[in-house]
Amino acid sequence: MTVNAKNNDSKEDMDAETFYRILNLPVFKYPIYISLGKGEPLLHQKLFDFIAEIQKRHILAMVVSNGINIPKHIELFKKNCPDIFLVSLYDETYEQQLANVSQLLNSGCTENSVISVARIIKKDNLDDMVHYTEKAYSAGLRNIWFQQLMPLSEADYPNLLYDYDRDVITRIDEVRESLTKKFPDMDITLPALITGSETKKLRCDSLFKGFGVNKDGSIQPCCRIDPPIGDSSYGNMFEDPLAHINNQKYLKLRQAFTTNHAKIPGPCKNCNLLSFKGRP
Ligand code: SF4
Repeated sequence: MTVNAKNNDSKEDMDAETFYRILNLPVFKYPIYISLGKGEPLLHQKLFDFIAEIQKRHILAMVVSNGINIPKHIELFKKNCPDIFLVSLYDETYEQQLANVSQLLNSGCTENSVISVARIIKKDNLDDMVHYTEKAYSAGLRNIWFQQLMPLSEADYPNLLYDYDRDVITRIDEVRESLTKKFPDMDITLPALITGSETKKLRCDSLFKGFGVNKDGSIQPCCRIDPPIGDSSYGNMFEDPLAHINNQKYLKLRQAFTTNHAKIPGPCKNCNLLSFKGRP
């Protein structure tokens, strides 16, 4: 499930009535977790009410944020801390972001939660893994997640991490060895490598973990395919509570990964989550 809070634009925010309508759909009766994200959730007025409602139903609440507004919300975190809270770190703001996460960790409200940070890693910043792990550790974190870049143009491709690039593999191995020795109690997820060949079996974990529902009921099949509000081409849960099963376009996308052919579906062509070989 998604809660839109893009740039404080209330037009895209999910109102409480729609949130409860979605939460009461049969498909959301027994999920393991519900993620509140898209845009910046800490800008959403009702975020902590939504977290409380999810947890009341014995479902884990996950929030993905930039963490900039953590200090304003410490008291709300104390009442309803998300079960999983992930902060994406950026070059210009990471020191402030880590200081905010540290404040949250020291507030005493995160004892039963997983608090983590994520950082984009490219071929030209592989050593950032060392720097960011050290900084995160000093901030009190014991969990960090390194992700591949989502390519937005041709210029990004040489900077992706491929499984046939010896320099990349060697450096990642070195980094892993030194970080494991230095921080044995830190849970470090290294970036998954992209397979260089379309003939290998396709893999996409994200597509099978769940899906998003926008405020108009339209389905967002994965975190990368993000139809705008009003586009129900992957199904609409308000029109059909089983749209996630019945919608043919969504079904075909899943079939591309479950059948044994190797053709990359059109919407997945530029995706950094596509066709992983797995963790190096
Ligand atoms: S590979 Fe395709 S289905 Fe999977 S996350 Fe990327 S765009 Fe979505």
